[in-house]
Amino acid sequence: MLQSIAHTYKRYRTLQTHRISALPVVILMPHSACNCRCVMCDIWKDNKNLKQLTEADISDLLLSLKDLGTQQVVMSGGEALLNANLFKLCEILKKENIKVSLLTTGLSIKQNADQLLRWVDDMVVSLDGDEAMHDAIRNIPNAFKKLKEGVEYIKFLKPSYRITARTVIHRLNFRNWPAIIAAAKDMGIDRVSFLPADISSHAFNRQTAHGPNLNSMKY
Ligand code: SF4
Repeated sequence: MLQSIAHTYKRYRTLQTHRISALPVVILMPHSACNCRCVMCDIWKDNKNLKQLTEADISDLLLSLKDLGTQQVVMSGGEALLNANLFKLCEILKKENIKVSLLTTGLSIKQNADQLLRWVDDMVVSLDGDEAMHDAIRNIPNAFKKLKEGVEYIKFLKPSYRITARTVIHRLNFRNWPAIIAAAKDMGIDRVSFLPADISSHAFNRQTAHGPNLNSMKY
C-alpha cells in the first residue's frame, strides 16, 4: 500500500516537473531494422545501418528501471524478433518481475511460438487490411498469410494468450475498415486498436515532417 502511494506520488511529480521520477511503461527498440517495407514508413530504408540492444544494455538499464518503478517493457522496432537475443533480453526483465509486451509485424510468430509463450506476456501485431490490402501496404508478398498462420498457431497452443491488432489508418486503407475487423476476428485476434498515420512528426524515421500540406502525401 505504502509502495503504491509512493509510486503514485512519483508519477504525479513526473507530470508536474521536468524531472522523470516514475516510468511505469518503457518502450525499447531491440532491433532497428525491419522485415516489412511499409508504404507509410522509412524505417526499413535504413536497414543497412543496423543497431541492436544487447544483454549488457538491458542489464545496465535494470537499476534505472527499478528506481523508476517500471512495470512493463514494450519491445518495439524495427522488428524486435530480428534480434537473435531478444528472448534473452526478455528473460532478464522477467526475472525482475517486469512484464514484457511485443509489437511485431507478425511475420515470424510461428517459428518463435514456444519462446513467445514463455517470455512475452502479450503481443500487438500490425494489421493493415484484408489480405490484398495488408500485403500491398506491407509491400512484401505473403505478409498476411504468415501473420494469420502465426496468430492461429499461438491461439492453438494457448487460446487465452492475448493478441491485439494495431492498424494505422490512412487514405489507402480507411475504406477497408470493416474488412480489417473481419480479418482480425477470423484469425482469432482479441481486439483491434486504430490510430491515424502520424504525418506531422519524424515518426517512422521520416527526414521531414509533412506538416499541414497533405497534397504531396502518397498515403
Ligand atoms: S511501419 Fe513498422 S512494420 Fe512497417 S516497415 Fe515501418 S517499422 Fe516495419
